[in-house]
Amino acid sequence: MTATRIDGKAFAARLRERVGDYAATFENAAGRKAGLAVVLVGEDAASQVYVGAKGKATLAANMASFEHRLPIDTTSETLMDLVEQLNKDEAVDGILVQLPLPDHLDEQSIIAAISPDKDVDGFHVINAGRLSVGQSGFVPCTPLGCMMLLTDRLGDLSGLEAVVVGRSNIVGKPMAQLLLDANATVTIAHSRTKDLASVVRRADIVVAAVGRPEMIRKDWLKDGATVIDVGINRLPPEPGKEKGKLVGDVAYDEASEVAAAITPVPGGVGPMTIAVLLRNTLVAAYRNAGLDAPK
Ligand code: NDP
Repeated sequence: MTATRIDGKAFAARLRERVGDYAATFENAAGRKAGLAVVLVGEDAASQVYVGAKGKATLAANMASFEHRLPIDTTSETLMDLVEQLNKDEAVDGILVQLPLPDHLDEQSIIAAISPDKDVDGFHVINAGRLSVGQSGFVPCTPLGCMMLLTDRLGDLSGLEAVVVGRSNIVGKPMAQLLLDANATVTIAHSRTKDLASVVRRADIVVAAVGRPEMIRKDWLKDGATVIDVGINRLPPEPGKEKGKLVGDVAYDEASEVAAAITPVPGGVGPMTIAVLLRNTLVAAYRNAGLDAPK
């Protein structure tokens, strides 16, 4: 069997276009653009790239982008004051504080300061709680993007065996919750799981969110499984090359011989994250303006 390649890049492009159309409709109805504020503290190279990409994508989707780049020695009070100001700003529908923050800033307390109704990353405990009890809130962008790819590919997930490898608050746990809400039978595996290969082999759906290059091999997979690879790992550069290759948590080529469908890295889950962030911001804008959000 050669697996179908799940093209997250194309799916994300279609989602961004749809969000852009709805954002234009929102602007007509509300008399203002939907707005996303992104806060970056310090000069982490990867974070700068992400923040730049988010700003560009926001503008391209007919929304307003507010970027706040603060120096690395920004105090907790200054950052909290900015978050408070953004919470009150009616032009701002979504607030995203780019993680990781420098060590002297406590991520949990900064995230807790964001208004849950503007927490478009879905990291606030109120939104995690809403997800766990089935109330509508904001769901973290990466797992929601994975879920969109899965339902697009498989339709109804009822009764399917799903194994999520990884239990972080931003990927593994919300992913498991979404799969459970879709009536899959869900197992969450992690670094203490015994005989991980045989746990994964049970799965009709595998979601890998570990951060270990090509850990999941062909013989770990059930024939016909659908594999969503969240991992982004850079291998050491080959001789003469400046940068190493990007790979996922799944050994793509060999897994493709067994799986029915699989996301590549790059070009699978990665592009979905920003597209869902824009989608969440648009939903926030509709809610904040008291208008019915598009489905
Ligand atoms: P974390 O480091 O927070 O969590 C990793 C999880 O993997 C932990 O639960 C850990 O278990 C588990 N784990 C580690 N080693 C093993 C092992 N040998 N066997 C089984 N489980 C193991 O990572 P994130 O959830 O933040 O991210 C996971 C990956 O996804 C990373 O590669 C990251 O770069 C990528 N990512 C990609 C995004 C995208 O947009 N595509 C967005 C976010 C993340 P334990 O809890 O026991 O320590």
